[in-house]
Formats: sequence, C-alpha cells, structure tokens
Amino acid sequence: MKLYRSLCDVAKFRNAFDFGGREVAHWFPGHMAKGLKRMRASLKSVDCIIEIHDARIPLSGRNPVFQETLDVKPHLLVLNKMDLADLSNKQRILKELDRSGVKNVLFTNCLKQRDNNVTKLVPTVLEMMTKSCRFHREENHNYCLMVIGVPNVGKSSLINSLRRTHLKKGRASPVGGEPGITRAVLTKIQVCERPMMHLLDTPGVLPPNIESVETGMKLALCGTILDHLVGEDIIADYLLYSLNRLGNFSYVEKYDLQEPSDDIQHVLKHIAVKLRKTQRVTAITGVGNVNITIPNYAAAAYIFIRAFRKGELGQVILD
Ligand code: GDP
Repeated sequence: MKLYRSLCDVAKFRNAFDFGGREVAHWFPGHMAKGLKRMRASLKSVDCIIEIHDARIPLSGRNPVFQETLDVKPHLLVLNKMDLADLSNKQRILKELDRSGVKNVLFTNCLKQRDNNVTKLVPTVLEMMTKSCRFHREENHNYCLMVIGVPNVGKSSLINSLRRTHLKKGRASPVGGEPGITRAVLTKIQVCERPMMHLLDTPGVLPPNIESVETGMKLALCGTILDHLVGEDIIADYLLYSLNRLGNFSYVEKYDLQEPSDDIQHVLKHIAVKLRKTQRVTAITGVGNVNITIPNYAAAAYIFIRAFRKGELGQVILD
C-alpha cells in the first residue's frame, strides 16, 4: 500500500468530528427493559457473568447498568471480533481496563471453527469462581453463567462456539439479524458437560443513556444500534473520519481514489461509480425533462459501512 501519511496528508484531515448538534439516539425499547428485569431476577442462580463486547471499542459503549446491577458475581469481559480489531495496542487496552476495575479479559474470534481463546473460557471462569470469596458452592458442580452484552456483539456466536468446542454440537442460539430487536426471554443452554455448565443467553441491552454522541456513533459503526436510528450518511462520514484519523487508507485503493480524502461525498461517489450503484433521475430543464444518471450515495454509504463491518477495510480500534 502506498504511504500517504505525509504531513500534508495528515494536516488536511479533520481532527474532530462535527456531530452537528446531534443528540444521542435514545433507543431503549420495552423488550430491553423487560430483559434487564429478568436478568436481575435470575442473578441468584448465576455463578459468573460473561460480558461480551466488541473488541474494536474495548473502552467505550459497555452498558453501565450491567456494572451497577449485575456486577455482584465474578465477571469476565470477553472482547469478541478480535479478527476485526487492531490489537497492536493490546497492553494499553488491558491496562486501561484494569484501571477501571476489569481484571479478567479474554479476546475471542467466534467465527473461527476452533478458537483457542474460546477454549480458555471454561478453565478461566472455573478459576475465577474458585478464587471468588463470594463463591461457596463446593458441593455443587453444576455451574450457571449469564451472558450479557449490548446487541450484535456475538453473544449467540460465543454460545455456539462453546457448544462446538465442548459438546461437539451445533447451533443452539440464532446468529445475526438486526441488532436487538426481539427477545426479552432468557434461554438456558448447556455449553459444557464436564464440568456441567449452562449459560443463560440474554437479550442485547443498550445503555438507556449512551454516554456521548461519539460513543453512540462508535456503537452504530460496529452495528449495535439500528442504522436508521442514526442515519447511514453520518455513520459513513464518521467511518471515513475514523479511518483517516487512524492513518488507515485501505479505502483509497479499494475504491480507486487518487489519494486519501476527508470528503465523504467524494468517497461515496467513487464507491458508487466503481460498483455501478447509480440511479436515473429526471431533471426538469427549460427545454424539457432530461434523464440523467447520478451516483446512488445511499447505496454507496451502505456498502462502505458493510465493508468496514466485515473487516474489508482493515483492523481498527476506535477508542
Ligand atoms: P448477538 O446479537 O450478541 O447474539 O450477536 P450474534 O452472535 O448474533 O452476532 C452478530 C454478528 O456478528 C453476526 O453476523 C456474527 O456472524 C458476527 N460475529 C460474531 N462473532 C464474530 C467474530 O468473532 N468475528 C466476526 N468478524 N464476526 C462475528
């Protein structure tokens, strides 16, 4: 890849994103409130909490409500989608998490047929539960873990990956779909035989109040908030801003640009032209109507965001 990061290139990029006075999308549908209530009610039978979050935003966007109300049990933070995250600064991330009280962290890739880090989960939680002074259930070797997290971070994928690893069984939990639309129920799923271990799968629950517009934008970029609640045009612009800020210019070659750009309309135009996402519109002129072809910016924004989410624009850490 060409080295674009000359001083001149860096200087022409925005060093702050203009959110244009936007408010944080407020989206806390009824099923999330219901789900949270059920999660609190089930806590008594839970031995350990597995919180899953997106490894690309390891320091922001986690639900503070989880910490306040559910953090009474041993707690493991699983940073999933590590295949999409730039982990060259892993030590900095671990240090910052440690400073905020998160001591047990595991990075995973649940799409891998067999991920060594997923294999470590059961021994890690067993050790945590044994060490925990709050845990006095020596006679009972039937463990129950609760899986929590904001929508679309890979809760179902982790459960399925654990079942593949320990039970040689397939899917028990449906994967994918739109972030956090449906379930309010808690499903109990076996994930390990020796020791006997069950997981309570929970609905994705977003924080009722997201801490800042920027955090909301990162959550949206990672696909945890429904796109239309934020707007694909602004998510695409925030993506471009983030890639430039990180010096990640893979989009230049991918979409046949001449050089990095900080202008989202310019980038979307190239994407639309390259991928033939154009639309015919009728223009009214003084001499009659003429049909012209213009780039389909909305389709291009959709493609740009999806490419990022699939990892096609390289690995990143947005925090
Ligand atoms: P949930 O809503 O938290 O249960 O998330 P899902 O398990 O349904 O996963 C949401 C999306 O993320 C799906 O498209 C998964 O295929 C994808 N996904 C899950 N784990 C990983 C991972 O480790 N890496 C990548 N790249 N994608 C993942």
